[in-house]
Amino acid sequence: MDLPVDEWKSYVFQKWSLLPKSIQDTISTADALRDIFLHSSSLLQPEDEMFLNNLSRGYFVGKDPNAPPFYREEGNKKFQKKDYVGATVLYSKGISHSRPHTVDISLCYANRSAALFYLDQYEMCLKDITRAQMHGYPERLQPKVMLRKTECLVTLGRLQEAGQTIRDLESNFAAKPTLAAAQFQILQRNLCRLKRKVQEKGNLTETYTATLTKTFEDMDLREENEQISSASSSVSLCIDPLKGRYLIATKDILPGELLVKEDAFVSVLNPGEMPPGLHHGLENKWDTRVTNGDLYCHRCLKHTLATVPCDGCSYAKYCSNECMQQAWDLYHQIECSLGGLLLTLGIFCHIALRSTLLARFEDASKVIRKLCSEISNKDMCSPESENLVQILNYDLGEEGERHGKTVKIPVPGCDINGKYENNYNAVFNLLAHTENHSPEYKFLCALSVSALCRQLEAADSKKPETAAPPALYSELNIWGIAMLKHMLQLQCNAQAITTIQETALSGSKENNVSNSRQIRLATGIFPVVSLLNHSCSPNTSVSFISTVATIRASQQIGKGQEILHCYGPHYSRMGVADRQQKLRSQYFFDCGCPACQKEKHRAVARPRWEAFCCNQCGALLQGGDILSCGSMSCTESVSRDHLTSQLQDLQQQVGIAQELLRSGKLEQAVQLLLECRHDAESFLSAEHSMVGEIEDALAQTYAALGDWQKSATHLQKSLRVVEVRHGPSSVEVGHELFKLAQLFFNGFAIPEALNTVERAEKVLMVHYGPCNDEIQELQKMKSCLLNSPPIPLGPSL
Ligand SMILES: [Zn+2]
Ligand SMILES: [Zn+2]
Ligand SMILES: [Zn+2]
Ligand SMILES: [Zn+2]
Repeated sequence: MDLPVDEWKSYVFQKWSLLPKSIQDTISTADALRDIFLHSSSLLQPEDEMFLNNLSRGYFVGKDPNAPPFYREEGNKKFQKKDYVGATVLYSKGISHSRPHTVDISLCYANRSAALFYLDQYEMCLKDITRAQMHGYPERLQPKVMLRKTECLVTLGRLQEAGQTIRDLESNFAAKPTLAAAQFQILQRNLCRLKRKVQEKGNLTETYTATLTKTFEDMDLREENEQISSASSSVSLCIDPLKGRYLIATKDILPGELLVKEDAFVSVLNPGEMPPGLHHGLENKWDTRVTNGDLYCHRCLKHTLATVPCDGCSYAKYCSNECMQQAWDLYHQIECSLGGLLLTLGIFCHIALRSTLLARFEDASKVIRKLCSEISNKDMCSPESENLVQILNYDLGEEGERHGKTVKIPVPGCDINGKYENNYNAVFNLLAHTENHSPEYKFLCALSVSALCRQLEAADSKKPETAAPPALYSELNIWGIAMLKHMLQLQCNAQAITTIQETALSGSKENNVSNSRQIRLATGIFPVVSLLNHSCSPNTSVSFISTVATIRASQQIGKGQEILHCYGPHYSRMGVADRQQKLRSQYFFDCGCPACQKEKHRAVARPRWEAFCCNQCGALLQGGDILSCGSMSCTESVSRDHLTSQLQDLQQQVGIAQELLRSGKLEQAVQLLLECRHDAESFLSAEHSMVGEIEDALAQTYAALGDWQKSATHLQKSLRVVEVRHGPSSVEVGHELFKLAQLFFNGFAIPEALNTVERAEKVLMVHYGPCNDEIQELQKMKSCLLNSPPIPLGPSL
């Protein structure tokens, strides 16, 4: 996904292995990106480009005129089965393959408006009706959508508009006496009903308006940092020859305090599994599966069921016309024809291109030209030039002590006034670690970028008028070198943009507790977030809304302490050896964080979530390959291999049970899970993560069966395991508490629900702040519970 597809990767690696040793050496030993790029670029042959183009053609990124009727049909099937979400996505796929101003597109929009209507998405429904009409919705079908429009307007309390639509409809009838009598009657009846509704509603005050506009208000930095844009004044930027740039606290910081709120300089949606189109057989040609690319705006990453596609391709989809236009102006006019190639070359290459395209728009365009000419002239692999390091050494030597002290020296990425901002200059100065990447990897990146440059050139020469400023093409090599630099930077500086995706289980809709999981939505570059160093037990928490990253203190941070976040390998998810290996190979450093030091120096006692226990007396087992019982009075001992294979068997059984649960075979799932739990008790510690998994699955199954009490009991056990593993104030515990709160709420257990809602709110607030969806849901639950009448509540709000 980040890197090019495997076929291209192995093609390039093979090409590399066949290069004469002398050329390999030239590229391997070149430490200037310019040389790497130019050497590699000169080796790109027409047959290589042809191979790559063939791969790119495997992706369906154009518009296929035969696709819309197919998707509409498939959508209608889902609609009939009342799967309105499924229908919406399929209509969207139909829309993305339709040309503007065709019957196809108007019918797909109209059908989607119906599905949205049943999903209570009235605003979106109205927009789709307008779009259907804009693209030439057939006259004879108009009454249908106008009735729907009226219903929406009434529900939204926009009564005047509703009245107007009714009047329009009536005058339409008068003008067309050709309507069949039966049809006419149905319409008349509907009109009467709607008129009554308008009257009834008219008596109520119109309170619907302002509810939807919840913005970032509560999420602003209390005081913006003068030195670093997008950061709070509670932090300060420092530099150190060993650590590079880093942030420290300038005052005591409390848990939950917002430290950084930064919009991505650039981001690219991860389209999800988008298998190359299959060349064999038409039945597989149009994919009906749903991917992230169908559900999230390709520019702002907002979740949406009603996407608007690019007019030129079927691949780029947006939440609104505004986003579509912005994306077009900023980068998509150049990317549009390159969709297949960009998917083949992977997200890193795509981000590299987009970064340079975005750079064109900055005031600093002169700076970029300057930077680009600098990099083409001299070594650009380490922005911390020798000069700078000398100044540093001198400064620090004189000072003797540097702990917690802000060193006033020019920091790479800052402007002349010493301000660090979210701009191309800062992005450009992120470390590329040229010397640490393998020669093959550098060759792969350079060759991919060269191929992209040639396509850009070719695409440009086809157009009569150049869409991009001439600079892009006249200095293509310079842009190529810049893109290569970005590709190399991304391995260490790419930030995964994640979101919590709710997956409802099969079975009846009301009886389910949502199961949320974190998914990787996009990859982006955040120059300010990139200033933070890594720790396996960080003191901050990162979350995202749209393309904006927020970093909050997850615990108290004392004045002078470093602000740290986790690059991925977290101590509660990975053992110390794996973490060290990962950090070394991907980020090129040895982690010396407190968690690593503690674990390295402690005899390899395994954490409790991995511990085995004695099947005779239940005490914890200890030891290496042979484990013996920790209890003095017990002589039990057993080999680790035996226990490991027992655990694997159990894992398999649990997998089967989860599958049963997914396919709705609930009774069987319960049966198997209870057996698994019995088995687990015989050899796993009560806090083993497998025990937690089993309890969680039991909770879900009982919830699906409608047994709130049993479900809550099991969820509480799973919560305890999560607590041991991730800590009581971790975001993981927050999500478990959220689930538990939903259960108590649905089960009318009011005091328990209130208590759990408050606990969940407290934990999640620290990590996410007040704008988070779950927090808002919790607040709704709370107000509902506090005002709840003594009669049982419905299962959903
Ligand atoms: Zn958008
Ligand atoms: Zn396009
Ligand atoms: Zn560490
Ligand atoms: Zn024992």
